[in-house]
Amino acid sequence: MAKSIHPSVDNGVKPGSPNFAGGTLTCKCASNPVEVTIKSQTAHNHVCGCTKCWKPAGALFSMVAVVPRDKLSVTKNADKLKVVDPSATIQRHACKDCGVHMYGRIENTKHPFYGLDFVHTELSKEQGWSAPEFAAFVSSIIESGAPPSEMGAVRSRLKELGLEPYDCLSPPLMDAIATHVAKASGALAA
Ligand SMILES: [Zn+2]
Ligand SMILES: [Zn+2]
Repeated sequence: MAKSIHPSVDNGVKPGSPNFAGGTLTCKCASNPVEVTIKSQTAHNHVCGCTKCWKPAGALFSMVAVVPRDKLSVTKNADKLKVVDPSATIQRHACKDCGVHMYGRIENTKHPFYGLDFVHTELSKEQGWSAPEFAAFVSSIIESGAPPSEMGAVRSRLKELGLEPYDCLSPPLMDAIATHVAKASGALAA
């Protein structure tokens, strides 16, 4: 049996729709769920092996994408949200009752990804969100208890799904971060 990565990709990665323009994310509460409305397509969707992203029960990876922060609003039961770790770079706003992370926001205006919110589009019933493109922080699943001996099988399954495995972010995103840092330091012209 193929290694399970995440329920949204285990049966193959579904392509996004070119004209998709957003939808609604809902937490897992049976009553009074938190609702987040997104008025744009997502970008840079990927599966992530870090220990901080919210994952559905039993999944080895989370699936996470970004949207411009001005395209995201909490439209129902905002009072149920609380920040998981206020000291973290990404402030993950989670439902106090079911634990689902509804969005992650960077408040440091100097951060390379300032202006982007992190979201889990599997929380939406709509189809057409941008498809995951790669796997980030793959080695970090060991920190959540995945046996090191299974990493070969995990990486080959990711490749089979077309999700190139990286142990940090993808090269274009790592380049974008380094460019931001170089422009801030003056090593590159702004
Ligand atoms: Zn909830
Ligand atoms: Zn992550």
